[in-house]
Amino acid sequence: SELTKAGKFDITFTFKDGTEKKHTYELSEKSKSSEEYIGFDSSDAIFLITPDRFANGDPSNDIIEGLNETKIDRTDGYARHGGDLRGIINHLDYIEDLGYTAVWPTPVLMNNMHQGSYHGYAITDYHKVDPRFGTLEDYMELSSKLKDKGMKLIMDQVANHCGLEHWWMKDLPFKDWVNNQKNYEDNIDNWDWKSTINSNHRRTTNQDAYASSIDTKGNTDGWFVAGMPDLNQRNPFMATYIIQNSIWWIETLELGGIRQDTYPYPDKDFMSDWAGAIMNEYPNFSIVGEEWSYNPLLVAYWQDGHNNKDGYKSNLRSTMDFPMQKAIVDAFNEESWDNGLVKIYEGLANDFAYASPKDIMVFLDNHDMSRIHTQLNEDVVNTKMALGYLLCLPRIPQVYYGTEILMNDTAKPGDHGLIRTDFPGGWKGDKVNAFSGEGLSKDQKDMQSYLRKVLNYRKSSKAIHQGKTIHFAPFIATYFLFRIIDDEVVVVILNKNDEPGSLDLTRYSEIGLDGKTLRNIITDEKLIWKDSITFKSKGITILTTK
Ligand code: CA
Repeated sequence: SELTKAGKFDITFTFKDGTEKKHTYELSEKSKSSEEYIGFDSSDAIFLITPDRFANGDPSNDIIEGLNETKIDRTDGYARHGGDLRGIINHLDYIEDLGYTAVWPTPVLMNNMHQGSYHGYAITDYHKVDPRFGTLEDYMELSSKLKDKGMKLIMDQVANHCGLEHWWMKDLPFKDWVNNQKNYEDNIDNWDWKSTINSNHRRTTNQDAYASSIDTKGNTDGWFVAGMPDLNQRNPFMATYIIQNSIWWIETLELGGIRQDTYPYPDKDFMSDWAGAIMNEYPNFSIVGEEWSYNPLLVAYWQDGHNNKDGYKSNLRSTMDFPMQKAIVDAFNEESWDNGLVKIYEGLANDFAYASPKDIMVFLDNHDMSRIHTQLNEDVVNTKMALGYLLCLPRIPQVYYGTEILMNDTAKPGDHGLIRTDFPGGWKGDKVNAFSGEGLSKDQKDMQSYLRKVLNYRKSSKAIHQGKTIHFAPFIATYFLFRIIDDEVVVVILNKNDEPGSLDLTRYSEIGLDGKTLRNIITDEKLIWKDSITFKSKGITILTTK
């Protein structure tokens, strides 16, 4: 606060036997003012990375003796593969060149678990970088190198649960440090999935006016899985610990945003306090919370500014657009009379429910779901259409690493190991190198260059960042979306007709484009918007007046 000065002071711990131990604690000087912490927004495009699987920049840290998991096996989707922070740092030029402006690596803090430690969501020390990912200095270097490029680092944080091997589980400081703690302590000698009290995953209890107490408690207090103790944020010391930890990371890494895991599982009043404490300290910061729901009502509930009937104040700037993710996939997979495009038309119409649609994060897939190319049955044109549409929406788009080279999990859709496949070229000796293009197929190279063009156009497009949105009901298997600001109009046309054809433009005259010259951002071709437009085959056309 304003009253606290930077400096060092001693904390003295007195043990039961009367002995004392001193610890010198430092309150560091702030490196910049709170207002200078600018979070991600709709001008950004976010690159999501699973660090263990992107690039191994430092093979010397692959195995760290003394940790609980020391196996490295690239043929096992659930083992560690050796990717690390150095691997991301080494390839920032590639990410920047593609046109991304922000990077979200899944958690890289200590996960000293016996298995599955690669994914990072079972944190066993909230202040320590997992040495297999690198050091705190590496994490800081990643942040500062991103900043040099005008890019943002988003940290993936987990307030709901820790990993079972967290050091405090051996000597819990309170009787209520974790939820269902007595059950854990009673069964500690034979602890496994049978003895745990799991969350009932009834996430709607957060909003449901008719919810019973047992269901509400069952959602928030149950453990996510047996290996992830559920933190009790109603304990004020735990609450303060989590808030201070988040602020420590914001300051230490000069973050450009936080992604908060499993948002509907912790105590929701605490989540409001947590997000409120951060946004109060850093008014220009951004936090996105993960609520995996296809119901726009639930997504709307968590976004700050939404008028919730129960009076809940969220303080969360951004939520995740699972409803549009599903609508887009369904729209492209459907083969009905209107070719499914009405699904995205009506999906986007739900924006009236949101306090701020442009602050919602939208995506086609992520590290927890089947890759978009697999979800779209490996149809390259549909994948292009979905991506182009995504990047022009009034949203903050997030794209998963490897989408640009059509990475898929078609062999076993939804398999976590397969969704998080190694990025080719990230390991010494890889036969295919997606960074250099060596060994990529024609389709892969084409998708890389397509995404690069759309993302780089998006980077400076005020119409996409902040423009108003007008779309037209699907018509003869086509759908038109317009983004408009000042003299910049971006036109996105989705055409699902396989046969060549033309379409009368009279219907779109309210946009005022008649007689104007527009440029195709992919091919650079110019066309005059008049009378009609012709299509050669199924695909996406993105035009701009700029
Ligand atoms: Ca490594």
